[in-house]
Amino acid sequence: MVDPDANFDDFLPEALRFRSPAPLADIGANLTHESFAGDLEAVLRRAGAANVTTLIVTGTDLAHAEQAVELAQRVPGLYATAGVHPHDASHWNGDLAAAMSRLHHRAEVVAVGECGLDFNRNFSTPPEQERAFEAQLALAAQSRKPLFIHERDAGRRMRDMLRAWRDDISDAVVHCFTADRDTLHGYLDLDLHIGLTGWICDERRGHHLRELVRDIPLERLMVETDCPYLLPRDLPAKLKGRRHEPALLPWIVREIAHWRGNTETELAHATSDTARRFFRLPMASEAQDIGRTQQESRNG
Ligand SMILES: [Zn+2]
Repeated sequence: MVDPDANFDDFLPEALRFRSPAPLADIGANLTHESFAGDLEAVLRRAGAANVTTLIVTGTDLAHAEQAVELAQRVPGLYATAGVHPHDASHWNGDLAAAMSRLHHRAEVVAVGECGLDFNRNFSTPPEQERAFEAQLALAAQSRKPLFIHERDAGRRMRDMLRAWRDDISDAVVHCFTADRDTLHGYLDLDLHIGLTGWICDERRGHHLRELVRDIPLERLMVETDCPYLLPRDLPAKLKGRRHEPALLPWIVREIAHWRGNTETELAHATSDTARRFFRLPMASEAQDIGRTQQESRNG
């Protein structure tokens, strides 16, 4: 359980024990990554202590999506996505499409993805990536679930593909947005949502985002760690292992709030409301009701 009344243990140095003034949703947490296998319960406790109470666990291939679903079944406040990352697009085939489609119809799966285009590293060829992404756009249209999209150095092609599908899919978030103003406005014109990570904290390559965050309407913005990747580079203390985790999300929110001219509280409320609406999550009171009903039926 992501328990907002949990206490910090001593894994995080004092200087990294942040607590958000309002509950946060981390919409991109790769909690099935092997680096979390040894201490996931402690990671979840620290997320609660930081008031990061909703976690969308990213499913980047079939095995990880199935693990994400298992986690979401076990831990209240956790939800899963199911998709094939562009790096793995060369593995796409009909069997995989059928297995993904089955996952998309499960209640724990709140988005189709992570899927998209990454022409930066091209671990799969661009044609393989486009084929797998096109097929996942079709699956999103069938299931009517929103898309969780990865795009790197492929903004133009991404926009063209999304434009062709825009009327058929419900909603889409471009997660870990890192591109330029033109690309951002292209996405906003398509009525897409934007996910921001600690990239904005990176003085080598992310400071251009400081100028852009004001362009994102508050109701289209969500926040994420993309942990264990993308540990913010400007944290006020060193972290053993340098593994990013959800408990550090308030630091990123503080940075985004600063450059947008919002308070942390405003940004926390707004991004959490947007995440609930976008992923169609139960309201906090409903989730408590579900917990209580389960408790009562166990007791009764
Ligand atoms: Zn990604």
